[in-house]
Amino acid sequence: MSTAIVWFRRDLRLADNAALAAALERADRLVLVYVHAPDEDGDWPPGAASRWWLHRSLAALSADIARRGSRLAIRRGPSLDALRALVRETGARLVCYNRVYEPARLAADLALGKALAADGIEVLAFAGHLLAEPWAVANRAGASYRVYTPFAQALRADLVAPEPLAAPRALPPAPQVPSLALDALELNPRIRWDEGLEAAWTPGEAAAEEKLASLALKLPAYAAARDLPAEAATTRLSPHLHFGEITPGRIWLELRRLREGAAPALRAGIELLQRELLWREFAHHVLYHHPKTPDAPLDPRFAKFEWRASETLLSAWQRGRTGIPIVDAGMRELWRTGFMHNRVRMIVGSFLTKHLRIDWRAGARWFWDTLVDADLANNTLNWQWVAGCGADAAPYFRIFNPVLQSRKFDPEGAYLRRWLPELSRLESRHIHAPWEAPQAALAAVGVRLGETYPLPIVELARARAEALAAFRALRAPRRGR
Ligand SMILES: Cc1cc2nc3c(=O)[nH]c(=O)nc-3n(C[C@H](O)[C@H](O)[C@H](O)COP(=O)(O)OP(=O)(O)OC[C@H]3O[C@@H](n4cnc5c(N)ncnc54)[C@H](O)[C@@H]3O)c2cc1C
Repeated sequence: MSTAIVWFRRDLRLADNAALAAALERADRLVLVYVHAPDEDGDWPPGAASRWWLHRSLAALSADIARRGSRLAIRRGPSLDALRALVRETGARLVCYNRVYEPARLAADLALGKALAADGIEVLAFAGHLLAEPWAVANRAGASYRVYTPFAQALRADLVAPEPLAAPRALPPAPQVPSLALDALELNPRIRWDEGLEAAWTPGEAAAEEKLASLALKLPAYAAARDLPAEAATTRLSPHLHFGEITPGRIWLELRRLREGAAPALRAGIELLQRELLWREFAHHVLYHHPKTPDAPLDPRFAKFEWRASETLLSAWQRGRTGIPIVDAGMRELWRTGFMHNRVRMIVGSFLTKHLRIDWRAGARWFWDTLVDADLANNTLNWQWVAGCGADAAPYFRIFNPVLQSRKFDPEGAYLRRWLPELSRLESRHIHAPWEAPQAALAAVGVRLGETYPLPIVELARARAEALAAFRALRAPRRGR
C-alpha cells in the first residue's frame, strides 16, 4: 500500500487542486495536512484579519474533507519537521503541494524539497495559484516586465487555461495520525473585534464557488459600477483567491464560457474582470522578480525620500479620523469589515503618501493587519503604485483630490453615510467637504466640526503643493549627469 502526503498551504480547496489530484492518482492512502508555520512567511506572517479568515477557511476545508470520508490533520511548523514526523508515522514516500510564490516561501520550499529528497522522499510541486508561472512570462530579450500592458498582452498570447480538475467525490480513509485542534492555533482574536467581519464574509471553498456561479448576474453591471464604492458591484473574490479557495484558472475559464454570445454589457464586464485578474498576475510577476519590493521601493530614487514620521497623523488615518470624509469612510469600512473598495484604497493610499507624506510602508503594514485579502504581491504592487515608486506606477504629480473623487464616485454620499453616521444627515452637496459647508447647514443636523466630527488634519491645497514640491525635487535630474 502506498501513502502520500498532501500538504495544504495557500490552496484551501478540493476542486482544481493539482497536488491533491496527483496524490490521489499515485497513492492508495492519503495524509492530508495543514502545517501552521507563520515564521516561514519571513517578515510577513498573516495579520489579524488574515488569521481570522484562515481559521474559518481551515474549518470549512476540514468539514469538506470529512464529508468525503477523510480527515485534515493540523500540525505546527517548522514544516520540514512536521512533514518528516508524518513520514515516520505513516511510511509515506511522496509529498505533494501547490506552489506559493512569495520570496520567503519559495526559499523555504526549496530547502525543504532538498532535505526531503535527501531522506529519499519524492516531492512534487504544482501550479494553480496563478494563470502563469511568474518566471514563464518574459519579453523578447528574455527579461521580466515592469509595465502592465505588455505583460498582460504577453500573458494573454500564451495563456493556456486547462480544464479545471473536479473535486474528488470521495477520499481514501486517512491513516490515524495525531492532530491539533484548530483552536490550538489561536487564530481567532482573543478580544472580539470581529463581528463586522462575521457579518460581511463566509470564508471557504463553497462560498467562493457561489461567487463564481453568480458572475453571470453580477458582471453586466461591473463595467459601469465597479468604481462606485456604495455599490456591491465587484466580485469580492480577493480573499478567496488569496487563500486558494478558488483558482484564477477556474475564473478565467468561466469568463471564457460566459463570453460566448454575451450581450455587450456582460462582455464589457468580462473584459474588465480579465484585466483585473491580469493585474493580480502582474503583481506576482513583479514580486517574484523583485523580491525586496515589500520593504524597498522598486524605483531607487525613492529610497532617499524623507517621509514624514508622525504617529499622530498616521493614527488619525488608521482610525478614520482625518476629517476628510471619503478617507475616513474607507478606513472605517476596512476596520469594520476587513475590506475596502478598490477606488477608496487608491484614495486613502494617495492621501497617506502624498497629502500626509507618510511612508507607503506604514500604509501597507496597516492594510496587512486589517485586510482579509491581505496579499503580499497585490498589496506591495498597489502601495508602490499609489506612492509612485513602483512598477508602472502613478506619476508623482497624480495626487488624487479626495473631495473631487468623493463627489465623482459617491455623488449622493451613500457610501459616506454608511460609514460616517455622524455626517449621515448632511445634505449631499455638503457631505464631501463639511468644512466648506455654511455653519447653519452643519448646525441644522447637529454636526460640530472638531467635536462630533474632526476638522481636516491637513489643509488639502497646501498639503498638495508641498507634496508636489517634495516629489518634484526627488525627480529632478541629478547634477553632473
Ligand atoms: C493600496 C492598495 C492596496 C491593495 N492591497 C491588496 C491586497 O492586499 N490584496 C488584494 O487582493 N488586493 C489588493 N488591492 C487591489 C484591489 O483593491 C483588490 O484586489 C480588490 O479591491 C478586491 O475586490 P474584488 O475581489 O471585489 O475585486 P474585483 O474588481 O472583483 O477584481 C477581481 C480580482 O482581480 C484582482 N484585482 C483587482 N484589482 C486588482 C489590483 N489593483 N491589483 C491586483 N489585483 C487586483 C483581485 O484578485 C480581485 O479579487 C489593493 C489596492 C490598493 C489600491
